[in-house]
Amino acid sequence: MAGEIRTVVVVGAGTMGHGIAQVAAMARSEVVLVDRTAELVEAGLARIRANLDDGVGRGKVASIDREAALERLRGGTDAGAAAAAADLAIEAVPERLALKRDLLKTLDDAAPRSAILATNTSSLSISTLQEGLAHPERVVGMHFFNPVHIMKLVEVVRGEATSEEVVEAASSFARRLGKEPIVVNDSPGFASSRLGVALGLEAMRMLEEGVASAADIDTAMTLGYRHPMGPLRLTDLVGLDVRLDIAEYLHDSLRSERFRPPEILRRLVGEGHLGRKTGRGFFVWDD
Ligand code: NAD
Repeated sequence: MAGEIRTVVVVGAGTMGHGIAQVAAMARSEVVLVDRTAELVEAGLARIRANLDDGVGRGKVASIDREAALERLRGGTDAGAAAAAADLAIEAVPERLALKRDLLKTLDDAAPRSAILATNTSSLSISTLQEGLAHPERVVGMHFFNPVHIMKLVEVVRGEATSEEVVEAASSFARRLGKEPIVVNDSPGFASSRLGVALGLEAMRMLEEGVASAADIDTAMTLGYRHPMGPLRLTDLVGLDVRLDIAEYLHDSLRSERFRPPEILRRLVGEGHLGRKTGRGFFVWDD
């Protein structure tokens, strides 16, 4: 089935969507990048051009591949019309259940029967997103990581109704993009966020208890466990507010004390210290 994925529609040209469109075009798919307005589409396409220029500058992308990828990319503002010719439609619109459900319904109604519909949701239940669709078996999670053109992982998330054929096709397409897919059953936080957040929250509790300094807790993981980055620095990069939202969601949905947000996290967010984006989180950022 994945061998037949020639035309990919990406809906949402923001942080994730433009990256997904880029890697799909680099992997020789015809790509339509859709957003609400022509300006937003153009902004997404401009980010792709900038990424590819940077890749050429660094010697990672051949000029000829850059040109070919750009020729395979088009823009659009009508998701249904674009989906009518899609083999695969991937949505990367904001993380709001009602918005994603409406969009998946539009895609399900418009796409050819053989097309796969993927969602890049980072937390919503795939099974819930499948509810009420005519063909829920073709809906699958494809959770990419940011920045998409660099990060290797794709979580392929199997909802209750997702067919095995679709799981395999999504995994195979991820491999075609040069990614490493892992298959995860639909469960809060999938595999990546659940494990990553658990580590981050434990590091915060250790900091609260005075086990060691933030820098030393991080060094324990970078030097002792060969993590590329410590859990507190990573939280600063992701954003403390983002991590707090995920922790609250996991705490509620998994009913596990492990995910209860530590006091220090609530306090820093309350004070407006959200990590790198505000100049201070667990560390001070002056870049
Ligand atoms: P973003 O806000 O950067 O981009 C979303 C885009 O969707 C915007 O350009 C917006 O105009 C567009 N959009 C909104 N409604 C639309 C509609 N009805 N039709 C077409 N386009 C529409 O968001 P993002 O960070 O790229 O996140 C997108 C999805 O990816 C979310 O589900 C998020 O949880 C998930 N995700 C994000 C990250 C990350 O690091 N940002 C990582 C993994 C997964």
